[in-house]
Amino acid sequence: MVKALVAHEPESKPEVVEVELPVLGPGDLRIGLAAAGVCHSDLSMTNGTVTPKFPVVLGHEASGVVLEVGSAVDDIEVGAPVVLNWAAPCRRCWFCLNAQPWLCRRVEKTVSTPGGKLADGTPLNLALAVGAFAEETVVPRWGVVPLPPGIPADVAALMGCAVLTGFGAVRNSAQVRSGESVAIFGLGGIGLSALVAARMAGAGPIVAIDINPEKEATARALGATDFLLYDDSLPKTIRGLTERRGVDHAFECVGRPETIHTAWSSARRGGKCFVVGVGRRDQAVEISALELYHYARELSGCALGSSDPDRDIPMYCSMIGSGSLDLQPLISHRTDLDGINDAFDRMRAGEGLRTVVEFDAEGFR
Ligand SMILES: [Zn+2]
Ligand SMILES: [Zn+2]
Repeated sequence: MVKALVAHEPESKPEVVEVELPVLGPGDLRIGLAAAGVCHSDLSMTNGTVTPKFPVVLGHEASGVVLEVGSAVDDIEVGAPVVLNWAAPCRRCWFCLNAQPWLCRRVEKTVSTPGGKLADGTPLNLALAVGAFAEETVVPRWGVVPLPPGIPADVAALMGCAVLTGFGAVRNSAQVRSGESVAIFGLGGIGLSALVAARMAGAGPIVAIDINPEKEATARALGATDFLLYDDSLPKTIRGLTERRGVDHAFECVGRPETIHTAWSSARRGGKCFVVGVGRRDQAVEISALELYHYARELSGCALGSSDPDRDIPMYCSMIGSGSLDLQPLISHRTDLDGINDAFDRMRAGEGLRTVVEFDAEGFR
């Protein structure tokens, strides 16, 4: 039995309970968790935005160490440090074969994957086939990306979701070039990753927007040239910063209809607006038919930052290794499993940056 954070039903407060791990299959790995980031999608699974099967072990952004290897796995050993990968492409479906592995059909189906049991024998689900808010988990071999030596467990965890999504949105989806203007709405783990990527791409101006004035210092330290508090007049203010045009690329990292509309209105004629945040099924974004024609902007969903984790995580590792990428400033709080509900409260209030859950994993270096 291991401790895990389980959501028992929608709209309920998740609790830390003892769970029985899934049986290790021939193609599986048993992982001791080292660190796990608290992502907005974890909260979304408890408040009705995303509807997994319950009860579910939450958590999907994590690093750990391999504790046990299934009999059919021959390319990874006990003791290896890994990033857990909730978006592992199958390499066989139409999307994978047509160079869009972030839209893989397998990834669509993993929101809640059966695995393990509660102490009373009730079958459990693992969020996104990972279930990272637990001392240990069992995942398929394809559910991890091996790490090179020297990557700290906390930043390794962030690579599993926030960095793939936020960095990828700028680098892969938008392919932001030097000198292009960028606006980023919502400075959580994903928005801040996008900000770092925009700075590294040489973008400017980089306008960072949030509802919390306390995020200004971090935003500026990470490369924002301007920081604005969210309000309805933002598109006008942003045009004032971009020779009256609007930005080349707007990234909405919140998932609310109002912010999506404001981000869209902040892009220039012919500019692009990427919806990176995960919104609710029952909320609609209304755009004027005339504006859609006149402004000739692109409005695009942005799944996983158009990332291929097997390609991109090793690239981020080499950037960290060479000193060109520092993800530590994205982490504002550290906690244990019992503190995750407090992290959810901070997210609801728009406070703090990434919270990382730390485990005492033996052997993560
Ligand atoms: Zn996530
Ligand atoms: Zn696929």
